[in-house]
Amino acid sequence: STYYDNYDEAVCLPEVLLTRQPPKEKAKAAFVVLVRNSEQEGIASSIINLEDKFNKNFHYPYVFLNEEPFTDEFKAAMTKASPNARMEFGLIDKKKHWGYPSFVDESYAAQCRERMGANGVMFGDKESYHHMCRFQSGFFFDHPLLENYDWYWRVEPGVQFFCDITYDPFLYMQKYNKLYGFVVTLKEMPETIPTLWDTVVDYAKSRRIDISLKGRSLFPFFRDEDFHGNGYNYCHFWSNFEIASLNLWRSPAYRDFFNHLDQTGNFFYERWGDAPVHSLGAGLFLETDQVHYFEDIGYQHDLYRHCPSKESGKGCRCSCPVGTSKESIDHDNYYDTCLPQWRKWVKTSE
Ligand code: GDP
Ligand code: MN
Repeated sequence: STYYDNYDEAVCLPEVLLTRQPPKEKAKAAFVVLVRNSEQEGIASSIINLEDKFNKNFHYPYVFLNEEPFTDEFKAAMTKASPNARMEFGLIDKKKHWGYPSFVDESYAAQCRERMGANGVMFGDKESYHHMCRFQSGFFFDHPLLENYDWYWRVEPGVQFFCDITYDPFLYMQKYNKLYGFVVTLKEMPETIPTLWDTVVDYAKSRRIDISLKGRSLFPFFRDEDFHGNGYNYCHFWSNFEIASLNLWRSPAYRDFFNHLDQTGNFFYERWGDAPVHSLGAGLFLETDQVHYFEDIGYQHDLYRHCPSKESGKGCRCSCPVGTSKESIDHDNYYDTCLPQWRKWVKTSE
């Protein structure tokens, strides 16, 4: 198979110029996959696809996590999906990281789930979804199997990658001082997070974190201009794809932030997602230029797809589905994309 040398960026050389040398350098990085045994097929297809587009040349390991033990059948299916990749299968500490903390009223949480179900809050009535969001927000980076890594790439069942990725995104992040990378930015459903924004703003005040426009903070990107910056515009980075620093979430600052959010119980009484939590956390603790938009990575999760445009000159040998589709969120008029806001924000903060 063809190896692509460590290009600094997604520069697409013609096939004949590609080196057959394996990459010389490697980051302390792994794919992180939280998944259930029942999602075996979906995650196998993600892995086969990712190996083909990227990892056959780069050989990063996979860390699978689950609150139930992985079955032998599941493990065998993963090995079959990528026979040469190193894989580790980890159990989540159910009591510490997938259970109710003492300060949460479980019967009130059950009432809230019922109410969210009646009100059509997406996944609000699903108990496991709350635990999943809380785990992804506050705990995954502490799993012992991730101890020796600095970077992760989150992978979910049933996702698709459309372009050859011919450079190492982890090394790119390292070199350019990035700590968080995304592909899709969208608006969150407001009914899932009624009090999140106010909680975060109060938190920032209590810790004297400068979230004003004057600082270099990412935070104002999330302010809603229509309300004079007093509310949330509901933009967030979609967390089913993330290439990011584990140490960002392991920092005392982020831990303090997560604990503050957790104490409210609203991972259970509301349906706070790990995507807005990560995004607003990044907002508090990162500057805009520490966040990277992987425009060159063609990607689809569920119904949302990003494909690098021809004009952008980004993405190598993409095989995106042809034709314009309402599913592609690259169009500026797509109803809940935050890409236009992102581009504008990056320009003004340069
Ligand atoms: P969505 O992307 O918001 O629709 O949520 P998903 O159902 O895809 O869940 C997000 C991620 O968490 C996926 O990788 C799932 O496989 C994983 N996940 C969700 N619920 C559970 C669960 O109860 N147990 C485990 N082990 N993984 C879960
Ligand atoms: Mn998903």
